[in-house]
Amino acid sequence: MTLIVQKYGGTSVGTIEKIGKVADKVCAHVKNGEQVVVAVSAMSGETNRLIALAEEMSEQPHPRELDVLVSTGEQVTIALLTMALHDRGCDAKSYTGSQIRMLTDSAHGKARIREIQCDAIHKDLEHGRVVVVAGFQGVDEHGNITTLGRGGSDTTAVAMAAALKADECQIYTDVDGVYTTDPRIEPKARKLDKITFEEMLEMASLGSKVLQIRSVEFAGKYNVPLRVLSSFQEGEGTLISLEDENVEQATIAGIAFAKDEAQLTIAGVPDRPGVASLILGPITEANIEIDMIVQNIGADGSTDFTFTVHRNDFPKALSLLEHTSAELGAKQVIGDDQIVKVSLVGVGMRSHAGIANTMFQTLAREGINIRMISTSEIKISVVIDQKYLELAVRSLHEAFGLDVDGKIQK
Ligand code: ASP
Ligand code: MG
Repeated sequence: MTLIVQKYGGTSVGTIEKIGKVADKVCAHVKNGEQVVVAVSAMSGETNRLIALAEEMSEQPHPRELDVLVSTGEQVTIALLTMALHDRGCDAKSYTGSQIRMLTDSAHGKARIREIQCDAIHKDLEHGRVVVVAGFQGVDEHGNITTLGRGGSDTTAVAMAAALKADECQIYTDVDGVYTTDPRIEPKARKLDKITFEEMLEMASLGSKVLQIRSVEFAGKYNVPLRVLSSFQEGEGTLISLEDENVEQATIAGIAFAKDEAQLTIAGVPDRPGVASLILGPITEANIEIDMIVQNIGADGSTDFTFTVHRNDFPKALSLLEHTSAELGAKQVIGDDQIVKVSLVGVGMRSHAGIANTMFQTLAREGINIRMISTSEIKISVVIDQKYLELAVRSLHEAFGLDVDGKIQK
């Protein structure tokens, strides 16, 4: 018998009518003879509303209590959806994270799943019942409610699918699949029928917001076929799975971008062991995530060091760097928070040479200056001025044949 785990996001369960539509969909799968586990998010806007309440109440809400509060959003949805299923003659039962025992560590607000107890769920499924699980929440070994981080319901669904060895994990959302790039920037963006876990992970880490990054990691690790589909439109969506060895992979899967980047340079630092850690140490200690790092070859005993951070962290990083600069006797600190990162992603890069060159030529033709470059096996990222973001994305999209009906330019 086919077992599927479905996840419905906030917009899919945003109103009573929409929850009814979800119930119709779930019932159709049951009538089709499938076993169904459903994970749901809070109704759209609800999690933000709860966080705002907490912030109104207290300057620094206690993380444990914040989790108690924000986890209520999903509890509302599981109850409503289960009622809707009952009204449609579909046997169903709801579970909170602690009821199924979605056991996590104790890191409130960003807890990691350790283990899921599946006995009760298996029994329900055997009795033909739909199991409705609250996404985003778990419980630690001491019985405290935890949450998995924003967008965590995706991870709930994938973890359930892995634990139950489901045939597929279907993520229903407000877009009909994963696109070659953000259609708001490039209207010719194309929906992908398939993408690999690795590519999806890069796309998610590089700024595509369709799935929570952790859910993709999880799906890859346990080889759970993951499908992104629209709640509102018919269609096959996009299947995220292992690389198909027999099929020649398209060279480039997509173009991702991160808009909110900032670049910092410390120039004229002494070129000696330990300097990188002296520069970056205070930044990481302040919990600022560092993205790209470039250090020049030293000349005359000194060197320049550049890195990028999220734009929100820019003022803090800049002041820390100025402090370090004074200590090290560096020449100057330069900062720019009007930059973006654009990345090409594709497993086909492994077997196709010349991708980087095509990328650089395309940007050069448009007069776009590249400030930093970084590469991995399946991606090439460049940092450019923010004002060129759209031009860069569109010209690369065309150059790599990603446009609807597009062809690779020679
Ligand atoms: N409701 C949570 C959030 O808004 C979890 C989720 O929707 O995945 O982040
Ligand atoms: Mg979401």
